Amino acid sequence: MSACALTGSELLDKAASGERLSAPEIEALYGLPLPEVAAAAHHLRLTRRDPQTVTFLIDRNINYTNVCNVGCNFCAFYRTRRQKDSYTLDYEEISAKIRELEAVGGTRILLQGGVNPELGLDYYTGLLRHVKAHHPTIRIDAFSPEEVLFMEKSFGLSLDDLLDTLIDAGLDGLPGAGGEILEDEVRAKAAPARIRSADWFRIIDAAQRKGLYTIATMVIGFGETYAQRTAHLLKIREQQDRALRDYGGNGFSGFAMWTLQTEHTRLHGKAPGATAHEYLEQLAIARIALDNVPNIQASWPAQGFKVAQAALYYGANDLGSTMLEENVVSAAGGHGRHSATVRELIRIAVDAGFTPAIRNSRFQIIAWPDVDAALNRTEQNPEAERAVGAAS
Ligand code: SF4
Repeated sequence: MSACALTGSELLDKAASGERLSAPEIEALYGLPLPEVAAAAHHLRLTRRDPQTVTFLIDRNINYTNVCNVGCNFCAFYRTRRQKDSYTLDYEEISAKIRELEAVGGTRILLQGGVNPELGLDYYTGLLRHVKAHHPTIRIDAFSPEEVLFMEKSFGLSLDDLLDTLIDAGLDGLPGAGGEILEDEVRAKAAPARIRSADWFRIIDAAQRKGLYTIATMVIGFGETYAQRTAHLLKIREQQDRALRDYGGNGFSGFAMWTLQTEHTRLHGKAPGATAHEYLEQLAIARIALDNVPNIQASWPAQGFKVAQAALYYGANDLGSTMLEENVVSAAGGHGRHSATVRELIRIAVDAGFTPAIRNSRFQIIAWPDVDAALNRTEQNPEAERAVGAAS
């Protein structure tokens, strides 16, 4: 790759202007002072999305099985089927979880699990049909490209036919989990059996072509180089160009990134992970590089509430979602949090100077929460919530 021909200040000016950056220019951003990169990223965030608003989604993660035969070295969530604490949820157990989500006004489930060789196509289609029949207002974003690849290989269907079958049963979207770093050299070291980048994009591309919701993801901290991170971002940008051009504008709805968590995993002590500084730097560079992805999420499960709040000034315009039950990142460390309450996300946004809004998974605003009620603020005590310090 040729070196960036611009000086640091020329590069920052170009970044802040919103002009598309080349690979050497993106890579050169890693060598610049973070406050200046952050200023360019925040400026772009303010111009590309409503400057006053920070959004979040009320949803629930449901991990329908923890049995998995992929065995990623960075995963503390999966079990073999012989392990005592392996599980596969039946439809009624999943319904019970959805009822809890409905009780707090949630609108979406993120339904993902391990690659469980004991499950047949009927389990997946039956599950989707069950959820649609019993919870008609709940949107189902389900199955990472890894799970879809397993189904494609196992059930004798082409990718198109498989997706059509799942859509017919009720699938609304395909979360873009498993992106990590979409460079196979990095993936092969971290998880030899993991879905390769070409398959990840092939499945995402088909989903976007069929009108399904998708997001792009990134995880840093495997020991990947800046060139590999840059290549990851450029592949996402290229896919987004294709989707926006060819699939009626149905590209990635957003971009989410977090740092590798290695507790209880085989990568513990072997992968460097990433500090808060690196996370914020990478987030800011993603905002600059991904000029065609409007929504950039801050990640509280891996980074904690405080860093996620800071991320709102490093390019993020969204706080992700409440999740109600996050199991995968938290199993490998994270901040020990499995969920966020609506009140906690409201407080993070308000204290950072933004107006919180509740969105759907397509990032359309569906409600403006009553901030004063949520934070127990009254005329006598407008700072009430600050005094008790709810969020940590
Ligand atoms: S990350 Fe997913 S595919 Fe990899 S071992 Fe864990 S559950 Fe299986």
